[in-house]
Amino acid sequence: MDVTLLEATEDPERVICTAARNDYMSGFVGDQSFEEVMASIDGEGIEEKQETLIGHLLSHGHFGPFEHPQLTIAVKGISRACMAQLTRHRHVSFDVQSMRYVAFDDVDPAEVRNGEMVVVPPSASDPNWIGRNQKSGAVDEETVRERERVFTESVSRSVEEYQELLELGMAPEDARFVLPIGTEVNLVMSMNARMLMHVADMRAAADSQWEIRELTEEVLDIAADWCPITFAYYDEHMKGRKNRLAP
Ligand SMILES: Cc1cc2nc3c(=O)[nH]c(=O)nc-3n(C[C@H](O)[C@H](O)[C@H](O)COP(=O)(O)OP(=O)(O)OC[C@H]3O[C@@H](n4cnc5c(N)ncnc54)[C@H](O)[C@@H]3O)c2cc1C
Repeated sequence: MDVTLLEATEDPERVICTAARNDYMSGFVGDQSFEEVMASIDGEGIEEKQETLIGHLLSHGHFGPFEHPQLTIAVKGISRACMAQLTRHRHVSFDVQSMRYVAFDDVDPAEVRNGEMVVVPPSASDPNWIGRNQKSGAVDEETVRERERVFTESVSRSVEEYQELLELGMAPEDARFVLPIGTEVNLVMSMNARMLMHVADMRAAADSQWEIRELTEEVLDIAADWCPITFAYYDEHMKGRKNRLAP
């Protein structure tokens, strides 16, 4: 997969702090400099003051201010299974590559055997990989070779048959029914910092599937550069917390 930042709110932590200070000030934040807005917060310089306030907000569950900054990310080559998990999050906005308007008629089915077009899960080639609800534990090399053969033959045959249906004049929107759920998709998604923390609570957790966990970790790396105080705090104090009903 490829995860790329497209756009993000400039200076997100200034936005978070200004919005939060608005709640507790008699004056109007729109009339004051950021230094004035932050004057009563503990800390030597402006960065230390932001650390104090952001830490306070997150530790007290005051998450509203984190809804103001937003980021937009492009994701390439996740499976449609992963997309189905991701798009359950209702406060994230998505644009998903269409299989009605995009026909994968130029993919060489032989290349599908090498990992093109369909995501290959690590369990297809790693004998020690243990997934959720797996019937057995680690397996020997011979078994995993057989797994890889069955998987590879199945997905490349699906792509061949999909292309055959296109050649027989079937619309891509119907021919796609024979493609595997591991078929790759590209998408663009936008969410705010609060939602990102919620998605990470659920999808970076150990009980999530490896693919969405990997994607979430990549998004968290982007978030750590974009909104550093918030996501350093999240990483240190909140990540891996027990799932809750609400963020
Ligand atoms: C490990 C794992 C396994 C899963 N297995 C399954 C499964 O087998 N089948 C399945 O269908 N789903 C499954 N899910 C998806 C899961 O049930 C949620 O639908 C998904 O993670 C979206 O998260 P969310 O419910 O927090 O909602 P989000 O859409 O992310 O919304 C964020 C928060 O907003 C609030 N909210 C949003 N909409 C409403 C609403 N209409 N009413 C009240 N509050 C709302 C809630 O507090 C919610 O937590 C699984 C998720 C995980 C992490």
